Amino acid sequence: STSHALLRVSDLSVRFGGIVALDGISFDVRRGEICGVIGPNGAGKTTLFNCLSRLYTPAAGTITFDGADLLAKPQHAIAAAGIGRTFQNVALFPAMTVRENVMVGRHCRTGTGYLANAFRLSAVRREEAEVRQCTDRLLTLLNLDDMAETPVKYLSFGTRKRVEMARALVAEPKLLLLDEPAAGLNHEEVDALRQLIVDVRDLFQVTVLLVEHHLNLVMRVSDQVVAMNFGRKIADGPPAQVQADPEVVRAYLGTE
Ligand code: ATP
Repeated sequence: STSHALLRVSDLSVRFGGIVALDGISFDVRRGEICGVIGPNGAGKTTLFNCLSRLYTPAAGTITFDGADLLAKPQHAIAAAGIGRTFQNVALFPAMTVRENVMVGRHCRTGTGYLANAFRLSAVRREEAEVRQCTDRLLTLLNLDDMAETPVKYLSFGTRKRVEMARALVAEPKLLLLDEPAAGLNHEEVDALRQLIVDVRDLFQVTVLLVEHHLNLVMRVSDQVVAMNFGRKIADGPPAQVQADPEVVRAYLGTE
């Protein structure tokens, strides 16, 4: 039923000059679900993500998140509203330790509130203790304890993915947006990532929206898949159904 939808995207349209990047796209994501978004290059996946994190304001349509109008919120309020994301190309701070990188994610959420509190020492101490506790718990759950004090630049690519995930999770999002997390990973690392995404959903009871070119990963990890082409939704449903959909097959055969 609709009350289980954490996220509802309705008739969303985005234009860049003459280009229609999103053309009336609608779908629901249920609480606790892993939802994959697929589509050929230029389908509008990144534009959709940028609407959800309020980098773009759509020309038309609505986004309801956790019962509220997301488009009524400014970009800086998104993390506090419960949306976290990882970025395709935004690196961690290489010289900072794993723990420091993760703690940065917490301060992103508290934003101005944290600074306002800075005038009250007790509040700052309480906040720091909370951040430290939350960070410690995440490092343990994501199996990063041994590397907590290691600068990120010494870590493998796969381990960095876990740190990125921890950095997003430390803000305690309800919805986690993963932007092409498999980009640049080898076969074993993709396998580990698949397990990591499932573990993260199970452990943190977070809802996951995953944009990804790696179809095999999406099909294996998702409860629901939304397929896009030319800014429109061409199919959605369980992975096997979407994979077999004639329009999805055609979209991929036409471009690869
Ligand atoms: P990819 O898989 O290659 O990342 P995508 O599915 O994420 O593609 P988008 O990046 O959302 O697709 O692009 C959708 C369409 O909008 C494309 O035609 C793209 O060229 C266009 N587009 C995206 N961002 C902009 C922008 N800032 N200015 C102009 N056109 C844009």
